[in-house]
Amino acid sequence: MKLHIGIDDTDSPKGMCTTYIGALLYRELSRLGEPLDLPRLIRLNPNVPYKTRGNGAVAMTFEVEEELIPEIKDIVLFYVNQLADLEDENTNPGVVFLEGEIPEELREFSLRALREHVTVEEAEEAARRAGAEYFKFKLGRGIVGALAAIAYPFKHFTYELLAYRKPENWGTPRKVDRESVFEMDRLFYPFTYDNVDPYKRSVLIAPHGKDPVLVGIRGIDAGKVLQAFEIVRFEEPVALYQLYRTNQGTDDHLTFKKIGELKPYDSAVVRGIVVKPYWEKGRHVFFELEDETGRIRVAAFEPTKKFRNFVRKLLPGDEIIAAGGVKEHDGVLTLNLEKFYPVKLAPKIEYRKPKCPSCGGTMKSKGDYLKCKKCGHRMPKKLIPVEMPRDLEKKIYEVPPDARKHISRPLVLPGGEDKILEALIGMHKTVPSSR
Ligand code: ATP
Repeated sequence: MKLHIGIDDTDSPKGMCTTYIGALLYRELSRLGEPLDLPRLIRLNPNVPYKTRGNGAVAMTFEVEEELIPEIKDIVLFYVNQLADLEDENTNPGVVFLEGEIPEELREFSLRALREHVTVEEAEEAARRAGAEYFKFKLGRGIVGALAAIAYPFKHFTYELLAYRKPENWGTPRKVDRESVFEMDRLFYPFTYDNVDPYKRSVLIAPHGKDPVLVGIRGIDAGKVLQAFEIVRFEEPVALYQLYRTNQGTDDHLTFKKIGELKPYDSAVVRGIVVKPYWEKGRHVFFELEDETGRIRVAAFEPTKKFRNFVRKLLPGDEIIAAGGVKEHDGVLTLNLEKFYPVKLAPKIEYRKPKCPSCGGTMKSKGDYLKCKKCGHRMPKKLIPVEMPRDLEKKIYEVPPDARKHISRPLVLPGGEDKILEALIGMHKTVPSSR
């Protein structure tokens, strides 16, 4: 009998990680049943407000003897109860079990949880219809992610190898040899990606929080991810490591929408015209984008760093394709940019003063007149329009790795441009809102 197990919402900024519980359980349960795949790390809608970091949930599937199922369920619930950070007000774990095949309807629920907002009640209803058993700890919000992770229909996938620390080291600085990570990057990038930030010269595989993760190595080839891990040197013990199959780096959250359809929590690709000059508030850069159905504010927030410079080059009249997540910011619906592509650039016109017609000298503005600095010649102020080069290229711009959503596909990977290209050549389908 196939047994699917989903777990979510066990961690808080103070500690724990659902993948750690998943890795322990995968090891433990593999003694009782036959794993049918690697455990799965499923990133759901990156725009939901409840997430601790990357809105990740974990699922795994085993072929098991029917009489062992109660014991397996007890083990899973015991681990979650023991290890989840239940004291944190925002940690509301959920565990889901489903026996047999995944119903098609549940696949659709999973895609909704990837792209929209789903309530706990909707998850309960979907679980009941699918014949899944769910367990809620506290508010039990985790059943949304747990159920969605079980049924996630992989279209594309990548891998992440997660290595964990000994509990006595949790909360202390991670001892990962920097040079060995740069060496690993030289050997394996882009088969493993987001290893380092070459501009800041920083290591990206090690997080900074109090969670049990020592490093996470992401890649498109399972073998290369494992080889890359061999290269990295640690100055603290590795307690455990586990390779996950994941929807990270797939862009599968993005669907093409018209601007008028956008609602909070959507992840979308839109095509429109920049309607007025950009403006800045704090260190965030904003502009407005319009299509025939509506207008939306678009933001490149401070953490996107140098990416903001490209956004500042956009001018009213530019036609662009923009991908990102929709959220309310200061009460205004805002598309938080992940990638953009300039389809058509409006001409950039600057008005210059002419040279003096009598001596060729430089003219100076004097109210409605121009006066030559050299010979004093005066003439009505008539400026000459000059078309300036636009310093935006016809290419896709993306946010830097440390500002990128886990689920966004980096441009360096094959297919990183696909969602934008689909919108460009009109291959996309507009996805009707399901609410
Ligand atoms: P991780 O740290 O593992 O990357 P996370 O900690 O950022 O993930 P969680 O702590 O799992 O995120 O919190 C996310 C919560 O949001 C979970 O309770 C999950 O069930 C819920 N959730 C996930 N997707 C949706 C959605 N589309 N709509 C509503 N709730 C969702």
